[in-house]
Amino acid sequence: SQQDLVAFVKDIVSDFNVKAKTQHIDLQFICPFAQMPFGFDAEKLDKVLFNIISNAFKYTPIGGLIHISLLKNIEKIEILISDNGIGMSKEEKERAFDLFYRGNQNISLGTGLGLALSREFVSLHQGDIEVESEKGKGTTFKIILPYVECQSVEKESVKENAYLRESVEPITPM
Ligand code: ATP
Ligand code: MG
Repeated sequence: SQQDLVAFVKDIVSDFNVKAKTQHIDLQFICPFAQMPFGFDAEKLDKVLFNIISNAFKYTPIGGLIHISLLKNIEKIEILISDNGIGMSKEEKERAFDLFYRGNQNISLGTGLGLALSREFVSLHQGDIEVESEKGKGTTFKIILPYVECQSVEKESVKENAYLRESVEPITPM
């Protein structure tokens, strides 16, 4: 069943408002759409977003920024989580999604499971997670979810009905 992804992501981001205030982080949610009805596993996507936004907080010093954007085009939805924190080296970037992997410069506690689990949960949606990062500059995680615009689904089913009607017509008495 479908749920509004805009409200869903916005709510998760809002849960970090107090943390942002305490750490003087400029936390923003950016989305050009008022609504985005989409079928997804809410429990799993909640964990994915929680893990990645928590990472952004863990690895971004006081006074930094964390921006979450929700975008879509006709074939995919993209959720971008950007921070201007400590960033990752090439090796850290390559291994970030490995089970139990933790970066070299680790400043806080953790098990190294967050990203491995997140990638698993996103792939259950036939999606993918990508990372772009530069040491000392910051990190962007991109969650990509395949998406079929509602309208094109409707068009397909209309076409199917039209086909059925056509094939039925010849045997319908005049
Ligand atoms: P936990 O299991 O508690 O999430 P963790 O945060 O160390 O522990 P992951 O979330 O899987 O584990 O992240 C793996 C590693 O990737 C981290 O240890 C860190 O080195 C690096 N990393 C993840 N997110 C960021 C980020 N936003 N900025 C910099 N490094 C990051
Ligand atoms: Mg983590």
